[in-house]
Amino acid sequence: MYNSYSVNTLAYNAELCNGCGMCVAVCPHAVFEMNERKAHLFQPLACMECGACQLNCVTGAITVESGVGCAAAMMRAALLGLPEAECSCG
Ligand code: SF4
Ligand code: SF4
Repeated sequence: MYNSYSVNTLAYNAELCNGCGMCVAVCPHAVFEMNERKAHLFQPLACMECGACQLNCVTGAITVESGVGCAAAMMRAALLGLPEAECSCG
């Protein structure tokens, strides 16, 4: 069954999910949960569009337009093990 949902820019296609659980592991806001070996959108409105789930989803089941703010940059740096990004927000 095709299952897609989008709110803000987060979109999820359950047909592509392989049940690896990475989106649940990396999401700082518990947007996803696992249920019967599939990810499910648990609280999509809590998504801050950091992009971590998309980066870690190897099947392309998740798309999100990650923000350009300092919070998103710091999240990406932390997740990728990079030096902390500098904030230019002012
Ligand atoms: S990271 Fe992708 S493939 Fe893995 S559980 Fe989440 S949606 Fe499914
Ligand atoms: S973009 Fe970030 S906050 Fe939103 S669902 Fe993915 S990991 Fe969670």
